[in-house]
Parts: sequence; structure tokens; C-alpha cells
Amino acid sequence: MKHLLSRTWFIGVLAALCMPAQAALNVLSCEAEWAALASEIGGKRLNVSSATTGQQDPHRIEARPSLIARVRNADLLVCTGLDLEAGWLPVLLQQSGNRRIQPGQPGNFVAGNLVPRLELPTQLDRAQGDVHGSGNPHIQLNPHNLVPVGEALATRLGELDPANAEAYRAAYADFRARLEFAMQRWEQQAVALNGVGVIAHHKDMVYLFDWLGMREIGNLEPKPGLEPSSAHLAALLQQLRQDPARMVLHTPYQSERASQWLSAQASIPAVMIPNTVGGTDAATDLFTLFEDIISRLLGGLQ
Ligand SMILES: [Zn+2]
Repeated sequence: MKHLLSRTWFIGVLAALCMPAQAALNVLSCEAEWAALASEIGGKRLNVSSATTGQQDPHRIEARPSLIARVRNADLLVCTGLDLEAGWLPVLLQQSGNRRIQPGQPGNFVAGNLVPRLELPTQLDRAQGDVHGSGNPHIQLNPHNLVPVGEALATRLGELDPANAEAYRAAYADFRARLEFAMQRWEQQAVALNGVGVIAHHKDMVYLFDWLGMREIGNLEPKPGLEPSSAHLAALLQQLRQDPARMVLHTPYQSERASQWLSAQASIPAVMIPNTVGGTDAATDLFTLFEDIISRLLGGLQ
């Protein structure tokens, strides 16, 4: 009997050592901005990682085995949705065998449904190979969109981890206050960008232009997801003679060739801007991301 008791006690102690009282949630984001937002709200309570970096096109990535393992272990998946990940996420979800993060489950969080959507497509657009079949999915470049997404994310984290629900709510409130203060400053700094006409490589900056009152005159891609063609670029150059643009913009992962060509032909600067955290060395979090974007855009006006 004595022997049995001591063995039970030993197993109990072993189990307690192996299972911390509150294991941190594993949060996997599809895009780097949502990992940054989760970190603002969850801090050290979460193990946060992102499937894509600021140097990768979120429309298309390769599903490496290490990424499948992270999907398998995730407690919460945070993605834009709106078809942005349609090319790679469904396969990953299936291969992971992780039921908690399948669509409709509490571990599956979709940011794109929480904000006013721009560029809702017509049937014609879909038929022509447009990858923005559910409206424009690049919602992160208007910082106002981080407010409803952050609030819903804090609530969801609290549902998955009730012991820390109050801490998530408080961290979100703090983030929102800092963001609203920063947005006022950014909007003052960016006044000179109001009404400025630009060309963008892909249609991935429309929420930024909408926020700052900038005008997108055209895109290097003939349709979202289609490579720039010489016929399209020639037509764009012709268009710029009637309606001049001040700069041509691209992100770190888009080829500079078409931008450089148009820059030379139209005598306007080609400007690279990060479109998420990690896109440039300066864009280390959501605050420095917008600071870097505005500084680069103002630099393009010089
Ligand atoms: Zn896109």
C-alpha cells in the first residue's frame, strides 16, 4: 500500500511538472500584420508566428513542411480571408489535420469580414482571371481597419483563453489609444499627399490611398494577378500624358522592372514601400510600418 501511494504521488508530481498551469496559445497568422497585431494584444501570453513575411507575396507562397507543422500546432489562425490566401491555405488546412482552426471553428479568425470592403467585383472581373474575386483583400494599409480587427481579435483570444480575457481587453484598449494618437499625427504629416496621383504595381494599396486621399491612376498589372505586359505599359504611359502621376509604387517582393521602365519613360520616381511589417528594416511593428510608408511617400514628392 505504501509503495502504491508513493508511486501515485510521484506520477502526480510528474504530471504537474509537465503541464504548466496556463500554456501559451499558439497563434499563426497568414500575413505579418496580423502577427504584429496579435503581439500587441497578447504579448508574452502568446507564441506568435506568421506564415508569410513582408518580403513575400501573400497571394502565393510555397507550403513547406515546417509551415505545415506550425499549422498543425496552431490554436488560432489569423488570416485576411477575402480569397487572399485561396492559392495555398486550403491545402495547408487540409494537410494539417488540425480541426480547431478549420473555417467556422473558434480557432479560425478572418480579418477581412470586419472592415468596409473596397472594390467589390462584378461578374465580368471574376471571369477575366482577377485574383481579387471577393473585393480588394489588402485591408491592412488603412490603420483605421486595425481598430475593428483588433477589437474582435482581443475578444476571440479571451474566448480561447478565458483566464487572460481581461488582460487581452486591456492590452487592446492601450493599443487602440496609441494607434488613434499616432493616426492623428500621420494624417497631419501626410496632408501633402492628399490628391496626389500615383501608379501602383498591383492593386494592393487602395486602402492606403483611400485613407490618405491619394488617387490611383492605374496599375502596372493589367488585372490583379496578371503580369505587366508591354502593350498594357504602353497604354498606361499614354494615359499618363493626359493625367500625370507623381510616382510609381511597388512593394519589396514585386519585380522592379516594370516600375523602372515607367519611371524612366514618364520621368517620375519609382518608390518602394513596405506593405506590411518586415517589408523594410524600419517597419518593425505596426507603428513604424506606417511611419516608414508616409516617409517614403513624402520622399517621392521631392
Ligand atoms: Zn492582391
